Order: sequence, then C-alpha cells, then structure tokens
Amino acid sequence: MSVSQPSSPPVREAPENNPFEAMLARFDLAAAKLELDEGLYKILQTPERELKVAIPIQLEDGSIQVYDGWRVQHNSAMGPCKGGIRYSPYVNVDEVRALAAWMTWKCAVVAVPFGGAKGGVCCNVRDLSQREIERITRRYTSGIIDIIGPDRDVPAPDMYTNEQVMAWIMDTYSMHTRGIHTGVVTGKPWGLGGSMGRREATGRGLLTMVREASRVKKLDLAKATVVVQGSGNVGGTIASLLHEIGVRIKAISDIDGGIVNESGLDIPSLLAHIEKHRTLDGFEGGELVSNEELLHMPCEILVPCAAENQITSENADRLNCQIIVEGANGPTTAGADAILDAMDIFVIPDILANAGGVVVSYFEWCQDRMGYFWEERDVNTRLHKSMQKAFRQVYRRTRKHSVNMRTAAYMEGIDRVAYYQKLRGLYP
Ligand code: GLU
Repeated sequence: MSVSQPSSPPVREAPENNPFEAMLARFDLAAAKLELDEGLYKILQTPERELKVAIPIQLEDGSIQVYDGWRVQHNSAMGPCKGGIRYSPYVNVDEVRALAAWMTWKCAVVAVPFGGAKGGVCCNVRDLSQREIERITRRYTSGIIDIIGPDRDVPAPDMYTNEQVMAWIMDTYSMHTRGIHTGVVTGKPWGLGGSMGRREATGRGLLTMVREASRVKKLDLAKATVVVQGSGNVGGTIASLLHEIGVRIKAISDIDGGIVNESGLDIPSLLAHIEKHRTLDGFEGGELVSNEELLHMPCEILVPCAAENQITSENADRLNCQIIVEGANGPTTAGADAILDAMDIFVIPDILANAGGVVVSYFEWCQDRMGYFWEERDVNTRLHKSMQKAFRQVYRRTRKHSVNMRTAAYMEGIDRVAYYQKLRGLYP
C-alpha cells in the first residue's frame, strides 16, 4: 500500500440530495483530518461488491411483476458485512451504496466486529399483500443467497421491513442450505433466534444520546421540549421512552404531516391511535402542522427519525433547536452541515446516534451462535454502555481536533476500519 498523503480532499459537485455523495463529502473531510494513507483512502471509499437482482413474482391477481433489488457490501475489514434491507418505492443503487458505507462507519464507531452492507428492494409495501411481500422476500433472498450468511453478510430490518420479513429470509436461507441458520439475519422474532430488546434498540440508543448530549450542553431535560420527526419504530420508541421519563414531546409526525401540542403530547394515546388507524390523522390531542413546519418549530432537541435529506442547505437556517439527534440515516445533507455549525447546533450524527440497532443486532448474532439467550435487562444495560462509550470517544475527538461531532464520528470510524484494513493487508 502506498504511504503518500492526499494533498487535499477532492472537490465534489453532485446534487445535494445524492446520499452517496453526501457520505463521500464527509468521508473526504475526515480522511483529510486523519491524513489517511492514499491507498487506504481509495480502498475505503469504494464498495467491495454490488449485486443487482431482478425479482419476478406473481401478484394476487395472477399478473407478473418484476422488482429491482440490490445488496451492496461496502467493506468487510472488521468482520462479516452487516446492514438492513429496505423496501421502498424510492430506493436506488446510490442510496443503498451510501447506506452500506454508513453501516461500515457505524459498526466501527460502536466497535462491533462487522463490516458494512445494505440491501433494498424497489417496491411499495402499502400496495402489496402479506403473501406478495413474502414472495418478494423469498425471491430476493434466493437472488442474494451466495453473498449472505452468518459469516459473510448478515441483513436486518430497515425501512418497511420487520421481524416477519427477517423470519422469511432466515427460513429461505435455511431451506436452501439444508440447516437452521438463525445467524443469517438479525431483528428476527423472539423465539426464532431473535433478541429481547432488538425492536426498541435504535430508539433506546437514541435515549442515551439525548441524555449524553444534554449533559454536555448543560440542558435540563426536565425543562426541555422535544420534536420528533417520524413515528415508526424508531421515532415511536424514542418518543415513548422520553415521555416515560417525563420529557415533553411537543410535536411528532408521520409520512403525511405532524401534530403539535405546546404543553406536551400524550404519546401513549397517540401511538395507540397510529397502531389502530395506521395514521396520526384524526388524533385529537393536538393541532395539525406540515412536516416542514414541524422541522422549524422552536424546541431544545430535534430528533429526525424519518427519511434522508430532510435538513438541507435550503431549510437548515430556519431550524430552531439546540441539539439534533439523528435517528434516521442521512437526514442532513452535507450542504447543511456548515450552516448548522454556524448556528452552533450540536448535531449527534446518524452513524453514532442510531447505532443502537446494530449494537443489539450484534448481541443477537452472538446469542444465535451461543444458542443462549439473554434477559432484556442485560441487553439494555450492555446497549447503554456501548452507546455511552461511543458518544464519549467521539466527543473527546471533537475536543482534541476542534471538529464537529459528525467529522469526529467519521474520523473515529475511518481510523478503526483503516487500522484493520492495514493489518489484514491486500489479498493476494
Ligand atoms: N437498519 C439498521 C441501521 O440502519 C440496523 C442494521 C443492522 O442491525 O444490521 O442501522
């Protein structure tokens, strides 16, 4: 490997909403600060493998539909690749590539011995029956079967996939390989190799981040107000955990819009309403607002838990909060980073903030290998410790190098992966 240093980060001119470019922009910045070896720079910015599969299935009405699916493995220096699978009508290879790389840095930041990967199928689950989703899942799994496995690449849930989808992947893989291989995916139902606490893990990790960030910023959580964008598994969990400890959730949203109540929303009733009606529309405990208005609402802590590219160079200057804890992957574009810095907003970046999911995925994978399952309390205690340690390590780097939390997290992740990559050397 060459030992020369990059002179300066290459200038990137790509659309702001391209997530892979957003990842590379942050990667370049962190790599330059680390004075990363040029050879390692080239290796770490390039995905190891990208597989595209066609998924033909017969729909309930007898017609045939062909869906596009991908699995991208970004880097496996630290261990088997790891990362979720999303079912979304907007998913494309650039998004999957970015998400795969984010998984590499995320696993490294929280020191779980995995590399990074991601998968996606371009479909709208709202238009599909359970049977159709099962067929898509099984066919997609058989399409990527040669590159996944407990020691190769371990998928997990992501947007619009869940425990049931993981159970189908596990079953399809096991049928093909003539054995029971629960460790091929994580986020499975409990009893089928799943772990206690996995479903709430991302939200629970965010709670540790909210506490740590408030401590650093000397913010009294008892007096703070929080706005949560998104009310799915991640948004819903962090909202209920904060509500449980008495923090005022002022606004929350779903895909169609948000709801606000200055004196605090009744989160358990709101989540029960969403569970029953599949939307927060019709919930009477607050006023309706648009998703855009929700982002600009004055609050102490903003927790974006919906999609990518929500906070951009166009709207960042209208934010009105002190702390952002990124529950989603890539909610902030690279173009917004400097604006948030100038506004002195303390941003806990996605690759650190939402890593609780993959931490408990790692615990699940360990439990599957042991065949011994832990109590929820043990899972949650270990999760909290991992998240707290990661936060403090990243925070120390911000102090040492005078960089923001995002650059510090990338530096932490890249430094670790680079170290293992170098130890392993180049094959052949
Ligand atoms: N999809 C989750 C994420 O983006 C979890 C990944 C995993 O557990 O492998 O972090």
